[in-house]
Amino acid sequence: MDEEPPVRFFSPALWLQRYLRARDYLKEIKPPIEIVADLGCSEGKFVKFLRAIASVRTVYAVDIDRYTLDEEGGRNAEPILFDYMRGRLHGPLDTYLLLGDVTVPDTRFVGIDAVTCIELIEHLPVDQIQPFTDNIFGFMRPGHVIVTTPNREFNEIFADSGRKTLPSGLRHWDHKFEWTRDEFEQWCKSVCSKYPDYSFTTEGIGEPPEGKEHVGCGSQMAIFVSKLGPKDREQMRSEIEKQEVYEKVWHFAETKAREDMLQPTENVVIDWG
Ligand code: SAM
Repeated sequence: MDEEPPVRFFSPALWLQRYLRARDYLKEIKPPIEIVADLGCSEGKFVKFLRAIASVRTVYAVDIDRYTLDEEGGRNAEPILFDYMRGRLHGPLDTYLLLGDVTVPDTRFVGIDAVTCIELIEHLPVDQIQPFTDNIFGFMRPGHVIVTTPNREFNEIFADSGRKTLPSGLRHWDHKFEWTRDEFEQWCKSVCSKYPDYSFTTEGIGEPPEGKEHVGCGSQMAIFVSKLGPKDREQMRSEIEKQEVYEKVWHFAETKAREDMLQPTENVVIDWG
């Protein structure tokens, strides 16, 4: 018997919409970002998008799951052979995949330009949200922080479609919670009231179907911006006593492309950015 094709809720896929929005925001930051960390990077798929931002010189991708970093992360984040042969068009780049717990401080991240947490927070046990928040906004104090998380209100669209849902009503077995738009906003406000150097905006990603606008978008994103400029953050970095507790699983070092390599390949370079 023919099976019904799966219902597609988003086009492009929701994960891709999240990546594109986060990348587009990071690309436009002035002055351009150089050091960025993707926390809860899982299979390292977003690293490809970060590598394509011309100004980026260091990418840290962090996850607590060694297997994912070892097996998938390394494969997705590694430059292709051609990148090594030619060098990176935009300039040198170091990509590190680190095994670590985002609730635990590591001085590598202090004062960096940007941090992304894409669909990470809902995987943390509720009692870990505060240590996570304190680590990012109180210890790392990056220039920009992007946080995305499911919008629970959208789940009724999944349920109405007949798609199998978990008894918990959550989207994934490892989600510890899912926030409504209001709950997410409350968390963002609590962050900025404890860490007043930051202000935030929120937005939806993944439009709801026509007539269902009341549920909001599939994902929600908050962007936090620090009042501290790059010079203040550079000073923070220079003053901190090094304590690098996350374990380095992979390091990919790319050099800048040689001038004589740029010309002939210009037309065939695939621009992920
Ligand atoms: N950011 C990825 C993306 O958008 O493709 C996916 C994130 S995945 C849904 C959540 C990830 O968070 C998992 O890979 C999990 O191992 C990681 N994670 C959960 N708790 C963590 C913690 N305390 N520290 C670091 N990573 C954690």
